[in-house]
Amino acid sequence: MAKKSKGYKDTKLEEKLKDRYFRTSESHPDFLEKVEEISKTIPHMCYQCGTCTGSCPSAPRSSYRIRYFVRRAVLGLEEEQLTDPDLWLCTTCYSCTDRCPRDIAPTDVIMACRNLAYQRGIVPVNFLKTVQAIYSSGHGVPNNDANRAARKRLGLTADPPTTHMYPEYIKGIQKILDHYKIKEQADKIVAEAEKK
Ligand code: SF4
Ligand code: SF4
Repeated sequence: MAKKSKGYKDTKLEEKLKDRYFRTSESHPDFLEKVEEISKTIPHMCYQCGTCTGSCPSAPRSSYRIRYFVRRAVLGLEEEQLTDPDLWLCTTCYSCTDRCPRDIAPTDVIMACRNLAYQRGIVPVNFLKTVQAIYSSGHGVPNNDANRAARKRLGLTADPPTTHMYPEYIKGIQKILDHYKIKEQADKIVAEAEKK
């Protein structure tokens, strides 16, 4: 059965994501091994009960279905998994992991897939802009004037006791991001995306 449109602008991607057929030629068994190695969890134990999707706060608001991602990992469908933009809709709240009756950590399956996608440079630009913000301020969402005023009304300091209050620690954050070349990779992908 054809899947409903997800409304992505990329028509090739749209067609690919609508295709729900499983073809053994598209399966890479080593993909499951990589996911298990990074996630340290056991997606092959999934019996597709759907408890994870039923617990997921992203599911009622989007086409994201965690059960589907666990299944694709088991089937070794690497391309479909890593190029599906829904991979980035998990909030990492861990509700699914708390409730899975098979003691799988679906959240960690997603995190492992994000790691593998990152290695191939498949990351939404918004996420990479968050990397740039962390690099410059130590925060994914830096404090702003409205927030400062709200904090003061609550009797708090205008800035939280983070790198906003102690900017001298930003250098340490930059050192970590530079070591793993995360900022460099983010800058490259954002620049390429902005050229288009
Ligand atoms: S809750 Fe666990 S067993 Fe059930 S579908 Fe999700 S991952 Fe599979
Ligand atoms: S961790 Fe991700 S997949 Fe699991 S319930 Fe939360 S948002 Fe959904």
